Amino acid sequence: MHLFTSEGIVIHKLKYLESDLIVTIFSITEGKLKAIVKGGVNSRKRFPGAFEVGNIGEFGFTAKNPYQLMYINHAKVNNYLIDLKKDYDKIIMLFYILGITDAMLIEHQSHPKLFEFLVYTIQFLENNKALNQIRLFYEFHLLKETGLLPAIEKCESCGRPFAGNRVNFLQQTGKLVCESCIPHNTGTFAIPDNLLLLIKAVNNNSLNVDEFLKVDVPHAMFDITTRLMSNYIDRPLKIWQMIDTIQ
Ligand SMILES: [Zn+2]
Repeated sequence: MHLFTSEGIVIHKLKYLESDLIVTIFSITEGKLKAIVKGGVNSRKRFPGAFEVGNIGEFGFTAKNPYQLMYINHAKVNNYLIDLKKDYDKIIMLFYILGITDAMLIEHQSHPKLFEFLVYTIQFLENNKALNQIRLFYEFHLLKETGLLPAIEKCESCGRPFAGNRVNFLQQTGKLVCESCIPHNTGTFAIPDNLLLLIKAVNNNSLNVDEFLKVDVPHAMFDITTRLMSNYIDRPLKIWQMIDTIQ
């Protein structure tokens, strides 16, 4: 019997058969894991409220062998997000952040750094109203961790360095290009300098979170991050429509 315990975050839950749950946990040691909770739907005594999405705690996993679906036989939750759940927009943002995490991570690949950022992000969300900043903060880190955050050093069309030049996002192709490479009649968005600096800081692990929470985030920034994620996920996510309802 394979057995281990890990700190984890509940990122998804689904009712399975009559009374079981299938939960997806982002664990610090083993990455994203799916597991069955026997009788999880009604077990208020054994696991009181343990499998609400966004919960952070300690989860015990068992499996007969490494190739089988696991079971959770122990759960101890540290946060119940009581304040967050009083705010509809924050709930949507929480679902969104957990949803992109679920979509972007592959099972059994550990991402301990991203795990810490997700814990951070959920805490920010509980104590802060800067929803767009929190969203962008987490998206940048998720993209960095999955190797998709661009370094933004060279124009993706002519290959010349961006130094001192504006960086433009082409809405049609998703390319980041210099001023002279913008084709005629194309929708573009020039990334503001302070956000360029933040992308660089995330890339260099030198981000100051407090500074981040103060910047303005134009909505067009999310066209860029959504494009970067959707290239990778390859299917539209319902949460992308959902998140637009709170902007
Ligand atoms: Zn160029």
